[in-house]
Amino acid sequence: MTIELRPIQRACPNCGANEPRDLGLGRTPWTIGACSPCGFAYLTAAASYADLSEFYSWDKAILLEAKRRKQAQPVVQWLDQTTRWRLHLFPRPETRTFLEQLVPGGNIVDIGCGSGKQGLALPDRYTPFGVEISRTLAGEADAAFAARGGSCQHAPSAEGLGQFDEDKFDGAMLNSYLEHETEPLAVLRALHRVLKPDGVAVVKVPNFASWNAALMKQNWCGIRLPDHVNYFTPASLTGMAEKAGFKAGFPQLTNLPTNDNFWAFLRPAPAQA
Ligand SMILES: [Zn+2]
Repeated sequence: MTIELRPIQRACPNCGANEPRDLGLGRTPWTIGACSPCGFAYLTAAASYADLSEFYSWDKAILLEAKRRKQAQPVVQWLDQTTRWRLHLFPRPETRTFLEQLVPGGNIVDIGCGSGKQGLALPDRYTPFGVEISRTLAGEADAAFAARGGSCQHAPSAEGLGQFDEDKFDGAMLNSYLEHETEPLAVLRALHRVLKPDGVAVVKVPNFASWNAALMKQNWCGIRLPDHVNYFTPASLTGMAEKAGFKAGFPQLTNLPTNDNFWAFLRPAPAQA
């Protein structure tokens, strides 16, 4: 099946301005821009939720992208593949492992949960819930989570989170998800409502401030067009999280510039007096 996405123009997902400066990292018709007022890097057009809901799944997009890269950049891809050892220089962190260290048990929501693999891998002291835009994957996750007392909402994330009660969750996982979300600030705000005041959200996103991103430019593995629509740095994620009422923390010895990804721990900020 051919995937034809209808691009829809987007303003800056962080501040709403419409003044992107082309970073020269895109590929026709996709442009990665840096917002002039706030500096946030984002794809200036993206697919609609309706298209994503009906016929898009990230698994499929990854396969297509790998094929395209192999054809377009054989040498660069060969280098990238043959230097994969660099990923193993340091212990490999995992979103789920961080969550287990930070949250003793209870209700966990996996945003962009796919078929539910991460949630199901959690030990029994957790009840897995999820939100997923792909109809097929959401159905699979819902059936699997129901067997453990949880459920999965098939909806765009902010809307799906709106279906849950306030303060329902002890923890949240946003594992390689937020870079795909066209409305990341709205999702973080919706997450703030359903996360308990002492809850923690563990976020993993590609690190646009990594050395590899600077070196590989448009061939960096974190640039995937058109499915990566936000290009976060630790600083820009911190800024957006603060707008949504969170305080961002970072694991020690993990967010190295040699890593293509970084992790952040978002905790509801104490209410302003
Ligand atoms: Zn902006």
